[in-house]
Amino acid sequence: MELGSTEMMIVMEEKATAEDVGRILELLESAGARGHVSTSDVVTVIGVMGERDVVAGLPLEAYPGVDKVLPILRPYKLVSREFRRTDTVITVGGTSLGGGHVALIAGPCSVESREQLLEAAAIAKRGGATMLRGGAFKPRTSPYAFQGLGIEGLEILAEARESSGLPIVTELMDPRHLEAVAKYSDIIQIGARNMQNFQLLSAVGEVDRPILLKRGLAATIDELLMAAEYIVKEGNSKVILCERGIRTFETATRNTLDISAVPIIKQRSHLPVVVDPSHAAGKVDLVEPLSLAAIVAGADGVMIEMHPTPETALSDGAQSLDPGQFATVAARIRDVVAWAGKTMG
Ligand code: PEP
Ligand code: MN
Repeated sequence: MELGSTEMMIVMEEKATAEDVGRILELLESAGARGHVSTSDVVTVIGVMGERDVVAGLPLEAYPGVDKVLPILRPYKLVSREFRRTDTVITVGGTSLGGGHVALIAGPCSVESREQLLEAAAIAKRGGATMLRGGAFKPRTSPYAFQGLGIEGLEILAEARESSGLPIVTELMDPRHLEAVAKYSDIIQIGARNMQNFQLLSAVGEVDRPILLKRGLAATIDELLMAAEYIVKEGNSKVILCERGIRTFETATRNTLDISAVPIIKQRSHLPVVVDPSHAAGKVDLVEPLSLAAIVAGADGVMIEMHPTPETALSDGAQSLDPGQFATVAARIRDVVAWAGKTMG
């Protein structure tokens, strides 16, 4: 059922029963309106479709099990600030992101070998990263470019988690790999190219893993939030939004980092936001200023590409920091996080 004409939503209490929901649906029906029930692990929400004046006159808040009745001012609901005033905080492996906790996610673009990733994990850990990134399934523009190590890459990531103690962020491209990626990762990344792959979004809405959702190359902020709504609607409320640069007419950078997306998302949504300066810039020397700008703008984390030997990288070498550059940038990030009155991890 489409929610096209929904004017308001009824948020049920956590303890509301099926009978409570049934009574509301009957009331709506008797008033010539309809309710769309969306149930997650957390809460049941009923989207109301019908004549605004009639629905507004119903004594909905007096019914048992009703927590609140909210007007829907935006095309997304569960991810909106209206729905939840407090910031969502996501905790994995003892480290947090959101609500004053800042993540530093670092690692290579791709998992290339056991040796490369274990080395990268050690560098990340030494530099103070709070999470390790690395792609095993890679969305490459050319079908002839390195496509990632697949399952073998996931096993290497799991080993790096053991050796470094850092939680793992890795990309899922195909719902057929969902089980494997969920098994080996702490956070599942949905890449920019898949931001509007709605079946993939619904699939990750059903797993018990936080999702790092990257903004599409040509997606608006509201489109990103609606993509997040697809995930949360299925019951997975742990979504991290990622600004990674968008396509504009500018050619000096690989993409244009939309720094204003950070405070705008914070106004519109309770979900945490991280910035990926590496894919925005496409160049090593811009990673530090863009990372610091992200923290100052209010980001809950940065995700940086780093490689033990960037000159040999099989993907994104030009934007990958070497170990020395990473240590320097990480130290500056820590300074700015302290200046902002926040904590790392
Ligand atoms: C990546 O994180 O390596 C990646 C492919 O990012 P994006 O989807 O933002 O291009
Ligand atoms: Mn990359």
